[in-house]
Formats: sequence, structure tokens, C-alpha cells
Amino acid sequence: MTTHLEPLDSVLDTVGQTPLVRVHAGPDDVPVYAKLESFNPGASVKDRIGKYMIERMLERDDLEPGGTVVEPTAGNTGIGFAVAAGQLDVNAVFVVPERFSLEKQQLMRALGAEVINTPTEDGMGGAIDRAHQLAEETEGAVVPQQFANPLNVEAHYETTGPEMFEALDGEVGAVVAGCGTAGTLMGIAKYAREQDPDTYVAAVEPEGSLYAETTGADVEEAEYKIEGIGTHDPSTNELFDPDLVDDVVRVADRAAQDELKRLAREEGQLVASSAGAASVAARAVAEGIRDGNVDAPHDSVVTVFPDSSERYLSKGIYRSFEDWEG
Ligand code: PMP
Repeated sequence: MTTHLEPLDSVLDTVGQTPLVRVHAGPDDVPVYAKLESFNPGASVKDRIGKYMIERMLERDDLEPGGTVVEPTAGNTGIGFAVAAGQLDVNAVFVVPERFSLEKQQLMRALGAEVINTPTEDGMGGAIDRAHQLAEETEGAVVPQQFANPLNVEAHYETTGPEMFEALDGEVGAVVAGCGTAGTLMGIAKYAREQDPDTYVAAVEPEGSLYAETTGADVEEAEYKIEGIGTHDPSTNELFDPDLVDDVVRVADRAAQDELKRLAREEGQLVASSAGAASVAARAVAEGIRDGNVDAPHDSVVTVFPDSSERYLSKGIYRSFEDWEG
């Protein structure tokens, strides 16, 4: 186990083992704890899959040393893959629609990756098509496909989930996490249900996203500002398994932004909008346990704060709701 108390050989040794910190705004008798994923070297939860997926692909000979990963990504995944690729003798190419955060694209390039832009109007679909085309044209190239690759879930099943349970001596009542690819939640939930089949599991999505459709809810599609979670087409989120989920909690943009501002002001936490949404949802689940509306085997809730607000300052994350570009 990495303790961070001794010298380490590689930055990859600092991926994971992030702190689990209490969120104080919740009920006193049902504590909420958040995994602070900005403590990873690329400053987000996606460093875990970058390291885990590239290492496993190399082990399985799906990828050769000196080979190339080509991934369509809007941000944190590219940074996570770029950190790992650089240290594991793998080239990285990311296909990013033009409109996405310039900060993230600069960081991918700084880490030695190549960034190729696709037209904004072609959406993420355009980036996915281009990535596959590039992989076909490039010798030794693979597309890890975070939206469909079971290694994404496995990374969290092997690391994030066990770390949470270890920190709380197994006394985890509920797990709550935002779903983009859903790799984070599915990995944690699978691990949690193996420890205790009654562990309560809640997925978090922005209002306007359609994950809730998969559990039979009749919900309206709309645009949203919360970044990194949600889907407009659940059929593309192949990793999400509704059978592992007790509830899908939908959080409004305004509530997520109010909460991320509160977390900074009151709790010293510089976290972004998907963390704000996770915090709102985790508190609602904790209140449900306290009030007897949610059945959980222990009086505690764990969630994940995926990244830092610093990555979104240019988008006005701390400005008024109207001036936040999302
Ligand atoms: N928050 C942020 C900021 C992210 O970048 C992501 C990844 N898209 C998530 C949450 C969700 O993680 P996952 O893809 O594992 O569901």
C-alpha cells in the first residue's frame, strides 16, 4: 500500500489512496464521507482508470510498449491516460470536440499527448468516429473506449471501493456517486454489494440527463451545466447496470453550484460541479437513512468528489449562476 510517507519511484505510485473526508453539512448521526479525487497526480478520479487500464492492456498484450492509445474524451480521462501513458512508454492521442475546456487540452499536451480537435457541431459522436478512424490508420493503436470497457469498472472495484471500506472498517451503509461513464459507481457498487448485499446504492445525474429512464422513471431531457456526469442517450453508457442501483438522484444545476460554493466557504473544499451534485445527493440519502425512509445496513454514506474547481475557473464556476458557463 502506498502510504505517501516514504519516497516513491514514480508519479504513478501516487494514484489512488486518496483521503476520505467527512462532509459536515449532513446529519450528525449519519455521517457523509467524500473521497477527494483531486489528490491524484492528474487531479481527478480518471487517473485511476488511466493507470489501471493501460497497465492491464499491456499485461494482456492488447497494447504493445511503444504502442498508442487513441481515446475520444472531453477532459479528465485524457489527462489521466496521458499521465499513465507517459510513464508506461505508450503514446497517447486524444480526440476532443473544439468547444471543450482549453485548460484540459493544454494539460494533455503538456503531458506529451497529441490532441486532435473535431468540429463542435459533430459532437462527441464525431470525436468517437474520428478516434476509431485514427486507430485503424495507426500501427499498434487501440481505443480503450472508457464508455464500454469493463476495465473502467474494474479499476474502481479493485481500488476505490476497497479503499472506502478499509477507511470505515467495513461500516458503509450507502454508496452515492455521479455517473458519466458510470465506471466509478459500478465498480464501487459491485464491491460494496459483495461485502454486504444490502448496501444502498444511489446514482447521481443532473436534471435533464436520462439515466433515470433506465429505472423506469418518466423524465424530461434538457441541457445542463454540471460537467462530467449525465447522459442524453443511456444506450451509449454500456457500463451502467440498473440492477446495481436502488435510486437515481437527479440534481439541478443551481443546487449543485450552491453546494460547491458552500463546500468551499464552509468546508475548505475546492471541488467542481459533479462533486456539488454528489454532495447534495449524498446528504439526501443520509437524511433518508436518519428518517427511516432509506434502508441501509450502517449509518454512513460514502461519495466521490471527482475533481477540483480550479479546472473550471475560466468557466466562472464561482460566479453567479447566470455567469457560470457550465
Ligand atoms: N465528474 C467529473 C468531473 C468527470 O470528469 C467524470 C468522468 N466523466 C465523472 C464525474 C464521472 O465518472 P465516471 O465516468 O466514472 O462515471
